[in-house]
Amino acid sequence: MTGMQKGKERSIAALLAALLLALCCASGGAFAAMQTDTEKTLEQLLKEIDQTKVTVNKYKAEEKNALKALQQVEDDLENTRYRITKAEKDLKYLHARLSAVEKELTEADRALEESQKDYEKTVKNLKQKLVAIYKAGSPKYMEMLFSSASFSEFVGKADYLRAMVEYDKDTLDVLKEEQAAIADKSETAERKKNELEATKAGISKLMAQLSSDEESLTAKYGAREKYLAQVQKEKVKWEKELAEEEKQSRELEALIRSKQSGRSSAASSKFLGRMLWPVSGRISSEFGWRIHPIFKDRRFHAGMDIAVPTGTQVKAAAAGKVLDARYISGYGYTVILDHGDGITTLYGHNSKLDVRAGRAVKQGDTISRAGSTGFSTGPHVHFEVREDGVAKEPRDYLVRK
Ligand SMILES: [Zn+2]
Repeated sequence: MTGMQKGKERSIAALLAALLLALCCASGGAFAAMQTDTEKTLEQLLKEIDQTKVTVNKYKAEEKNALKALQQVEDDLENTRYRITKAEKDLKYLHARLSAVEKELTEADRALEESQKDYEKTVKNLKQKLVAIYKAGSPKYMEMLFSSASFSEFVGKADYLRAMVEYDKDTLDVLKEEQAAIADKSETAERKKNELEATKAGISKLMAQLSSDEESLTAKYGAREKYLAQVQKEKVKWEKELAEEEKQSRELEALIRSKQSGRSSAASSKFLGRMLWPVSGRISSEFGWRIHPIFKDRRFHAGMDIAVPTGTQVKAAAAGKVLDARYISGYGYTVILDHGDGITTLYGHNSKLDVRAGRAVKQGDTISRAGSTGFSTGPHVHFEVREDGVAKEPRDYLVRK
């Protein structure tokens, strides 16, 4: 609370004490003078209440915005974390695929080596056989030929050797083909490996980006959370301030009302359909539940709004006594008339008041000028009819138009 507000509180406390003293001991004249000061203090306080209400509302709206902004970052953060989890899963899968491909490559290398060995062995065999055939003069070969019992057997043996050569040559072809197939497979695996590694590099890069995003979003979240806490703290502070101001105004109002005589709550049906319209104009808002034009929430509208230009003369709906003519929180400059039998009428948002509390008025007397003070979006008369303080449908009391 500010120093000025503390000062105000002290002055109200002093005033309350003085008033109590005046009520108990002082003469009527002294009381009247005090009353005027009290009313002035109350009016000032009620204006401050309206300002505080606007401030509280501003912080409530800002709180809503801050919450929305926080929710947005929270959503972004959640999305980023989901993408990180997915990227991690993708990387894990890629690692598995890479080791499988690497295994394929190792196997291909080993198979190639094996095939190469077979090939060399076959070449070696073939060479030996070719040497045997072409060096036909060698004693071993001759011996083999001549040991044949017949010529046909000799030919058979020669054919056999030739067949053996053919066989080795075929084997070599098969081995060549096999090696080509292995090399092909190895090449495919190598290509796959390169592809997987490129994908892995891409995902790793994405992961780095996502991690950086997460970090900045976390920082942003922290900042917005802090801001929300600040706004909420400020809102609570102003709500407390408002409660304090309202408590003070209630105390003052109670003191002011203590001078008013109690009303009898007798038959009030005599007012039905008999009241004058305080002004004639367009009905801009009816009595009952509605969305408040300033606070944008659902509130009960205790009266009827009649749109008229500022300065329009406002007439007493029925004869009676001025119960209150002052600034009331939300209502702005207001006149309340007491018609007896528990019936009161209220005229809100005036620009100027023409009567003072205690004055008697006749039906149709000008009591104020219309305006837009208090919580109002444009010049109009807010007209209420209450029976024992309970708001009633004003149309039931007004003469039929
Ligand atoms: Zn109204």
